[in-house]
Amino acid sequence: MIIDAHTHIMPQRRLNGLSYWLGKVFADHPMAGQCFTEDTIVEDLSRKGTDYIFNYVFSLRESETEELNLFNKYLSEKFASVIPFGCIHAENRNIQAIIDLCIKTFGFRGFKLHPYVQGFSPDDERLFPAYERMEELGVMVNIHTGFDEYYPQKEKTITLSMIEGLICRFPSLDFILSHMFYPRLDEAVYLVENFNNVILDTTNVFSAIIQDEEKGLTMDKERELLSGALKKWSQRMVFGTDYPAGMSTLDGIYRDLCAFGLSKNVKQDILCSTAENLVKGKNV
Ligand SMILES: [Zn+2]
Repeated sequence: MIIDAHTHIMPQRRLNGLSYWLGKVFADHPMAGQCFTEDTIVEDLSRKGTDYIFNYVFSLRESETEELNLFNKYLSEKFASVIPFGCIHAENRNIQAIIDLCIKTFGFRGFKLHPYVQGFSPDDERLFPAYERMEELGVMVNIHTGFDEYYPQKEKTITLSMIEGLICRFPSLDFILSHMFYPRLDEAVYLVENFNNVILDTTNVFSAIIQDEEKGLTMDKERELLSGALKKWSQRMVFGTDYPAGMSTLDGIYRDLCAFGLSKNVKQDILCSTAENLVKGKNV
């Protein structure tokens, strides 16, 4: 079984915007300018052998939160493979009521924050009541970290101390850290080693190392950090494709993963077991 723990199926308007953004930010991105729809994305993933996906949406403005949460609910009703996560925006009022609606009524499994794109910082105090409610309900939050260079308009870099502060402040909330602060993998490794409410999301990390090497950079240290972490912590690590916003086509992303020659057990953990354990047995 494969659980892709990081995908972005969003309303068509946002998918069109994503297709345009890929072409703007990445030279020669194979997905840029393509017209993908919710149906083609689900078909592509299923052709690749994917059984379930963690689907993440994120609101660019506070007024978009409700629409996106309703969209993810609709999507999870349309496709049995979709495990939906909700979104919040720092400017949302009644933020705890949004958390309650998503979890208690819609049956979502947690939330995703993409602070660079959403235009706020994950340690914005307006989010604290939301984190508190997530803790109370026993659901998790996925926060984007790393790849800072692709988000030049960012107001505040997402730093290790910022995330560590949140992890300490909300010790029973599970934090899934997307992209492991790439390329600062040492920061992600430090967190998984020191806090047991941390899960590392390796999405894009394999492909990024390979693509950076193709650019002529030496990534030996990053390779070592990644393989060391996988050997020790694969039961707290997941893999996702970021489809259709990942670093290549689906075939390319899986080719990059295979190129690392991971052991059977590590692959089983990051492609399935860790994600399965995260959603299994949750009281939602
Ligand atoms: Zn993503």
